[in-house]
Amino acid sequence: MNLFSPLDKVKGIGAKTGEQFTLAGINTVGDLIEFLPRGYEDFSHITTIVDIKPGKATIKARCEKIATRPVRRGLRITTATLADSTGKLQAVWFNQPYRETQLKSGEEFYFSGEFEFNYNRYQLTNPSAEMVKDMPVQTDRILPVYRSIKGLKTTLVRKILAELRPLITMLPETLPAEIIKSEKLMSRSDAILSMHFPENMVDVDKARERLGFEELFQLLLASQLNRQENSKLTGWTIPFEQPIVANFVSKLPFSLTGAQRRAAWEIIQDMERQTPMNRLLQGDVGSGKTVVAGLVACQVAHFGFQTAIMAPTEILASQHAETLSKLLQPLGITVGLLTGSVKGMARKTLYEQIATGSVQVVVGTHALIQETVKFYKLGFVVIDEQHRFGVKQRQLLLDKSEHMPHMLAMTATPIPRSLALTVYGELDISILNELPSGRKPISTKIWSPNSRAQLYAQVDAEITAGRQAYIICSLIEDNPENDIKSVQAEYVKLQNSIFKHRRIGLLHGKLKPAEKDEVMQRFSRGELDILVSTTVVEVGVDVPKATVIVIENADRFGLSQLHQLRGRVGRSVYQSYCYLINSTSAKPSQRLREIEKSNDGFYLAEVDLKLRGPGEIYGRAQHGALNLQIATLADTKLIARAQKQAKIFASGGFDMLQYKQLDTQVEYYQRLTTLN
Ligand code: ADP
Ligand code: MG
Repeated sequence: MNLFSPLDKVKGIGAKTGEQFTLAGINTVGDLIEFLPRGYEDFSHITTIVDIKPGKATIKARCEKIATRPVRRGLRITTATLADSTGKLQAVWFNQPYRETQLKSGEEFYFSGEFEFNYNRYQLTNPSAEMVKDMPVQTDRILPVYRSIKGLKTTLVRKILAELRPLITMLPETLPAEIIKSEKLMSRSDAILSMHFPENMVDVDKARERLGFEELFQLLLASQLNRQENSKLTGWTIPFEQPIVANFVSKLPFSLTGAQRRAAWEIIQDMERQTPMNRLLQGDVGSGKTVVAGLVACQVAHFGFQTAIMAPTEILASQHAETLSKLLQPLGITVGLLTGSVKGMARKTLYEQIATGSVQVVVGTHALIQETVKFYKLGFVVIDEQHRFGVKQRQLLLDKSEHMPHMLAMTATPIPRSLALTVYGELDISILNELPSGRKPISTKIWSPNSRAQLYAQVDAEITAGRQAYIICSLIEDNPENDIKSVQAEYVKLQNSIFKHRRIGLLHGKLKPAEKDEVMQRFSRGELDILVSTTVVEVGVDVPKATVIVIENADRFGLSQLHQLRGRVGRSVYQSYCYLINSTSAKPSQRLREIEKSNDGFYLAEVDLKLRGPGEIYGRAQHGALNLQIATLADTKLIARAQKQAKIFASGGFDMLQYKQLDTQVEYYQRLTTLN
C-alpha cells in the first residue's frame, strides 16, 4: 500500500464506505492521511456527575429517561435524565429528536457539552453522545474530530486512520532539511501522526505549526519564484518625461496629495526599467487612484503606447472613460470606451481604432479581453478594483501585447499586511494613505429602524442644501418570507409618500446596461436627488455631490462592503453622513459598531480579517483555490518566518528536483497566483 493506492486497499473500507469518502473528495490513501481533524475532543478528563462544574464537561453515563416535546413551530426539545454511579443530571437538545432512538439502547455513553444554567436549572446543553464501546481507544485520550462526512461515523473514520498509522510513520519529509532545523519544526510524519493520534495538545500545536508553516512556505516560495520569473521578462521601457507629467498636473483642478505623487513616482520609475512593472496600488475609498492612473497613461501615450483600463462594471467603466476624457482629451490624447453596450458599427469602428492605435487609452469592462480586441501597441494595463477579477482575466488582458505590458492593479479594499505578503507576494505595493485635503471624515451612525422619520428629515435637509443621497437595500424585489427591504418597494414607497417632492432614481443589477447607465448618468449630472440602489453602486462610483448614504438592513452586509458603500459619499469638501439601519432594534453587531467607530479602511480590513477570514478581502474565487487547511492568514508571525525562509531558499539556486512534492505544490500555487 502506498499514498496513491485506492481506498479499498485499506482494511475497513468496503464499497459503501469507499463511495462516501469519494463523494467527499477523498480518493486515495494519501488523501485520507491528509484528511486532518478540524478539532479535538478531550476525553482525557471525564467528570463524575457529583463533581461537575459549569462550563465544558464530559461525563460517562447512561440515559434513564428521554422524551421530546414540541415547544413551538420549528422547535422541538428533547430532555433526558443521565445517570452515573454518583448522581443524575438533565441534558437537553434542541431539534435533535433522533437522540431518543440513539440513547434508548441503555448503553453507556460519553456526553460532552456545556453544563450551564438554563430554564431555571443547570443542564448539559446539546451534548455530543458517543457510545463508550465505540471508542477505538482508551478513554484517557484526546480524540480527533473530523469534518463530518455523510454516512460515515467519526468512530469509523478514526478506526480507518488507525489502520494507516504504520504508513504515516514512514511519510517522507517534504521541507528542506536546513529549514526544518533552523525553524525547529516537527518532521512531516511526526506532525501528521500527532494530528491524528495526539498524545497531548502541545503536540497538536507543534504539528499545526509545522503543517501551517509548510503551506505558507509553499505559497510564499511560489510568489518569490514568480517574481524571479517576472524579472527575467523583457517589457517596454518607457522613460520619464518630466514636462509631460508637469503639464498634466498643472491642468488638474486640484493639487495632488503627497501619497498620489509618491505612488505616481514609484510607477514611473518602474516603467523606466526593462522588466515589466507588477504593482498594486492600494488606496482607501476616495483616495484618488483614478487620477494616478490617468497621469501615467498620459506619459505612456506620449511615447506611443496604449493604455487599457479594465473595470468590473459598465457604470464604473463609463465613469472612468468620462473622467479620463476630461483629463486627457485636452492634451490631445484619445480615450475610447468599450463595453457590452457598444454595438454594431460603433463597436467595429472602435476595434479598428484600437488596432491601429488611433485610440490611445481604452477603458472597458470584460469586453476588453475578448479575442476580437487587438491592440496596436499595448504598454500599460490597469486593472481597477482588481479583486473583482480572476487571475485568468488579468492574464488575458496582459496577453494582448507583444511584450509583457506594465501592470498596475488597483484596489480600494485595503489588504492587511500579512495578507498582502502572502497573496500578493510577487507584487510591489504603493499605498495611498492620504485623502485629498479638505475632506471631512464621514459621520457614521447606527440607526434604529423605528425612527426613520427623523432620518428622512435630515436627508431632505441635505437635498434642500443642494446635495444628493443614496438609499441602499440588499434586495431587488420584496420577498414575502422576510422583512428585508427591496429597492423596488422602497422606490415606490418613498416616491409616493415622504419624498413625493423629490426626484428619485432606481438602480439594480437586473436593469439593462443602457438603463443602468442612464440612471447613473442622471444621478451624476444632478438630475436626481435620491438614488435607491442595490450594491451595484458599491464599487468605485464617484458622485461628489452625494453626501448622504442610508443603508437598510445594514447588518446583512460585510464590513468591507459597508466601507465600500460608505465610500460613495465623502468625496468632496462637504460634510457627509452614513446611516446604518439595523434590521431590528436589537443591539447592533460588532461589525456595525466597528464601522461606526472608524473611517480607516486599513484598520477595518484587519478587523474583517479577524472576524470573517480572508475570503471577503481577497477575491473569493482566488482564495477558495488557495485552500489553506491549517495556516490562517491572520498568523503574522508564522507568515514572517515562512517569508524569510522562502526568500533564502529562492535565492539559493537550489535544485527543485530534490524536492518533488514541494515542487508540485509550488508550481500549483505559481499558476494560481501569478499575474503573468
Ligand atoms: P478612488 O481611489 O476611490 O478610486 P477616485 O479616483 O474615484 O477615488 O477619486 C475620488 C474623487 O476625488 C474624484 O472626484 C476625484 O476627482 C477627486 N480627487 C482625486 N484626487 C484629488 C486631490 N488630490 N484633491 C482633490 N480631489 C481629488
Ligand atoms: Mg476607484
